[in-house]
Amino acid sequence: MPYKDPKKQKQYMKEYFGRYYRKNRKWIITQVSVRNKKYKREKREYIINQLGGKCVECGYNKCIAALDVHDEDSSIKESHLSGKSWTFIKQYINNNRKKLKVLCCRCHRELHHEDMM
Ligand SMILES: [Zn+2]
Repeated sequence: MPYKDPKKQKQYMKEYFGRYYRKNRKWIITQVSVRNKKYKREKREYIINQLGGKCVECGYNKCIAALDVHDEDSSIKESHLSGKSWTFIKQYINNNRKKLKVLCCRCHRELHHEDMM
């Protein structure tokens, strides 16, 4: 550190990271978005595995992208749930286990189609 005074040091760090950010802005944004996508995917896998990991109607479990979490409340959609914190997700699953079920995209759509009829 070039400064002993904490105020000056803080100012220096602020300028240093400001320069660093401006220089590497594109790269930083890409890295953050890659990391967020990874976290979201990990959370999604966790949620689906916690709830059985396969469609409760037909047993489909080939591809996680084709599995949805159906919430009988539908107050929180799974797509929103995977954006929440780990603590929230774990609590939500524990408290709402009976209301949540994993469905494949076909069974999920069939279910909501019946709702609309
Ligand atoms: Zn199914």
